Amino acid sequence: MNNNVELERLRSDFKLIDDLMEQKHVLWLNENRNPHKNIEGITMEEVEDAANRLQRFSSYIIEAFPETALEGGIIESEVKEIAAMKKLIEGRRAIHIPGRLFLKCDHALPISGSIKARGGIYEVLKHAETLAIKAGKLSESDDYALIHREEMRDFYKQYKIAVGSTGNLGLSIGIISAKLGFQVDVHMSADAKDWKKDLLRSLGVNVIEYEQDYSVAVEQGRKEAAADPYCHFIDDENSKDLFVGYAVAALRLQKQLANQLIQVNADHPLFVYLPCGVGGGPGGVAYGLQQIFGEHVHIFFGEPTQSPCMLLGMMTGLHDQISVADIELTNKTEADGLAVGRPSKFVGSIMESILSGCYTVDDAFLFRSLKAMMEQENIFMEPSAHAGVFGPIQIVCEGQEYLEKHGLYDKMEQAVHVVWSTGGNMVPEEMRQIYLQTEK
Ligand SMILES: *Cc1c(COP(=O)(O)O)cnc(C)c1O
Repeated sequence: MNNNVELERLRSDFKLIDDLMEQKHVLWLNENRNPHKNIEGITMEEVEDAANRLQRFSSYIIEAFPETALEGGIIESEVKEIAAMKKLIEGRRAIHIPGRLFLKCDHALPISGSIKARGGIYEVLKHAETLAIKAGKLSESDDYALIHREEMRDFYKQYKIAVGSTGNLGLSIGIISAKLGFQVDVHMSADAKDWKKDLLRSLGVNVIEYEQDYSVAVEQGRKEAAADPYCHFIDDENSKDLFVGYAVAALRLQKQLANQLIQVNADHPLFVYLPCGVGGGPGGVAYGLQQIFGEHVHIFFGEPTQSPCMLLGMMTGLHDQISVADIELTNKTEADGLAVGRPSKFVGSIMESILSGCYTVDDAFLFRSLKAMMEQENIFMEPSAHAGVFGPIQIVCEGQEYLEKHGLYDKMEQAVHVVWSTGGNMVPEEMRQIYLQTEK
């Protein structure tokens, strides 16, 4: 749909498109949000099942990644209040953010330092379990530490895992798959940083580079994998396993909030802000949270001004039938994890009744936030992860309509805002210094 007539029609149907084309910071509110609507095609039993599977794998994870021993082989991050950062934002912007501000620290997830350590690792583990059980080498009641044995690595060697990625999913899949013994092909889009490719190659991963963006890398990977019966393709655009793996985060967050005596109910709304690329990570988390907290959770996705693919797909209802190029955006952003021009239809459809809205944020904000978070909280998060930080600002400055509609105005002082920090710990020191000195 690349012709001018279509674009003119879109612009007249959706007034926000002009602002998107001018790369303004926009807030789109989802008129179809309906927390009581039944979601088809996925259930919380499947999410519980995934949580149990990850529990079964915990003894293997401890063996293979000893740094996870303290947490019992469970890949999880803390929720941390960031009061100093909140104060800085309020001062700089001359605004008041009612309620408390927390950071969900997925930048510090063990093994691969990003939100992809949830879904990505989960899908590979599930595949590994299925293969081993089928071959009679494992049963659910075994101690899964046995998977770390050399004979199991030899078994997995005959199989291949493939994935297309802008970087972090490739890292996650590459690290866990190589550890298990699989052959791995990672199809990397042009946005992927060199250090990620170098790291993967050092682990014996076959990295295939593309000069095009994410959609092309995924498509190519999917094609090559389809031709090989021993190859399992991790489909970032369509995978339910990935989605379910991400959704486990919601069960964990529920416990973490309860442990910190943080209530979520009609008088204590929970706002969650998630950076969004193709949608799987934030979508999975959003699904889980919505199932648990219902109408009391308000979920917003943040995207770069050049890559608002989920916003565009959901607002128009066209999902993967529209790309940011169709509204003359470049999909060029330093937020490499979010450099996706076309959203997942699978995820967008599930989000139709769940999501509160989407907003856009420019790269300049991401770098200012990166520096401020380091100075105020001594926390390093990669540029993509800072798309979440803009959420509370956008709600305070532009969210009046939403707060009014949901009767939230007089409850906001009891609100809890959770900014989902999606990546950062794997970024090498030299890159961190470059990011810290970048001013856009
Ligand atoms: C992948 C990624 C996201 C977004 O996840 P999607 O599943 O692509 O929507 C956000 N932040 C970082 C750092 C990522 O790597």
